[in-house]
Amino acid sequence: MKPVMIITGAGRGIGAATAIMAAQKGYAVAVNYRSDKASADKVVAEIESDGGRAIAVQADVVDEAAIVAMFETVDRELGRVDVLVNNAGVVDQIGRVDEMSFERVDRMMKINVVGPFICAREAIKRMSTRHGGNGGAIVNVGSAASHLGGAGEYVDYAASKGAIDTMTEGLAKEVAGEGIRVNTVRPGVIRTTIHASGGNPDKPNVAGSVIPMGRIGEPEEIANAVLWLAEAGFTTGALVDVDGGV
Ligand code: NAP
Repeated sequence: MKPVMIITGAGRGIGAATAIMAAQKGYAVAVNYRSDKASADKVVAEIESDGGRAIAVQADVVDEAAIVAMFETVDRELGRVDVLVNNAGVVDQIGRVDEMSFERVDRMMKINVVGPFICAREAIKRMSTRHGGNGGAIVNVGSAASHLGGAGEYVDYAASKGAIDTMTEGLAKEVAGEGIRVNTVRPGVIRTTIHASGGNPDKPNVAGSVIPMGRIGEPEEIANAVLWLAEAGFTTGALVDVDGGV
């Protein structure tokens, strides 16, 4: 039996790169998506054509019933999850806090914080030795924004990723004795579509000038860190910065 990895938001960007790399390393991969089924199916087809095993599973991470159903689908089709990658996340239009609507901040926190918590809950129920599991790993995709703060751009997003840093610290300690490791990768600016969705399509073109290494990162460079943390047997509660030195 292949070890099983669930990756939220894996139809494109960092999640898709992680799914493809995980399959190459021998994982059976659940490629979660919210709305873009075609992209998730494409990732699955690429993995299968390379001889790997993957399924696409729809679930919006703000929908508790959908998250529970996703884990049940994975139980049935791939087996009990070994690694959860909490990757799905959003930014919003560039703006100041005094311009932000209640709905915007509420949505940000639901997708970027509540979703990862509920996915972690479902994973722990299956992984924890306390619940009869064999242990496992949770890898969150946070952001360099959590320590930079996002001023004038998206303080709400930065704060949501700050919550992920703190969750990593606390949850890692909470489940360390139950065979589960919890870690977070904090990417800097990475070449994906998230910048266009936040109304800042030029960010990848200009960001390189303020990054000490002089360039932005590629999704595969984050996937590499996620896969390392998935298997780093004595590492838990770590925040791993993959950001070109910011
Ligand atoms: P992306 O290219 O915009 O892709 C986001 C993925 O998340 C999509 O597959 C999308 O699915 C999914 N998603 C969004 N909302 C969802 C929801 N409610 N439920 C389930 N899936 C959902 O983003 P990315 O750049 O790869 O970002 C991945 C993670 O890295 C995020 O957590 C982001 O905050 C973090 N990050 C990115 C950067 C960067 O520069 N790119 C930097 C720091 C941190 P659909 O397509 O189906 O909607």
